[in-house]
Amino acid sequence: MTLDAEAKMQFLFALRSRGVMDKRVLEAMEKIDRGAFVKGLFAERAYEDMPLPIACGQTISQPSIVGLMTQALQVDPRHKVLEIGTGSGYQAAILSQLARRVYTMDRHKRLVTEAQAVFDALDLANITAIASDGTRGLPEQAPFDRILITAAAEDPPGPLLAELKVGGIMVVPVGQSDAVQALIKVTRTETGFDYDELRQVRFVPLVEGMGAD
Ligand code: SAH
Repeated sequence: MTLDAEAKMQFLFALRSRGVMDKRVLEAMEKIDRGAFVKGLFAERAYEDMPLPIACGQTISQPSIVGLMTQALQVDPRHKVLEIGTGSGYQAAILSQLARRVYTMDRHKRLVTEAQAVFDALDLANITAIASDGTRGLPEQAPFDRILITAAAEDPPGPLLAELKVGGIMVVPVGQSDAVQALIKVTRTETGFDYDELRQVRFVPLVEGMGAD
């Protein structure tokens, strides 16, 4: 077995052993090469189950957390999904395999430009990356079947809750930055919102306004 094939097998084993069981999610994570989203020195560590630094002082999330969040989102092929926090673009690429359409937003233009270049290179034509403050939502494409926030909010932002369809699901890490955060699954019902706490996580903070680059 080549080193690459072995690294990939270990990658998938780590996902399963940490609770990523959904067949479609595992298939998407087998297909999308995380190495394409990690640049420079860290590229060779792309198949380890670790968060890694990317540009603008941000991080690409740990693969098992990407898997667990994606699994919790219960995406189906008819869904229109919004992600806040494009970062490297890896999470959006996984979502693109499961959904009809993916919109992903980041407050750093540079991350959006770099992620879009990877989407183009991999022919992931159902993703649109937008440089904008995601806390304000994306009114021109709302409502969404699913919303995934990959930065920690103090509370789920109101404009995003308002853009969730009835029956829709939002997954969001909630808590003060750097402290322990709880990953929350919010389901919109006819009359309000149901909240489910999934596990503890640690994400970079959701910050209002645009980044400097
Ligand atoms: N999902 C990414 C990792 C996200 S890291 C991946 O797969 O690589 C969190 C990202 O959220 C950072 O890139 C940060 O710039 C972005 N972010 C923080 N606050 C934001 C906001 N208000 N609007 C949009 N993006 C935001």
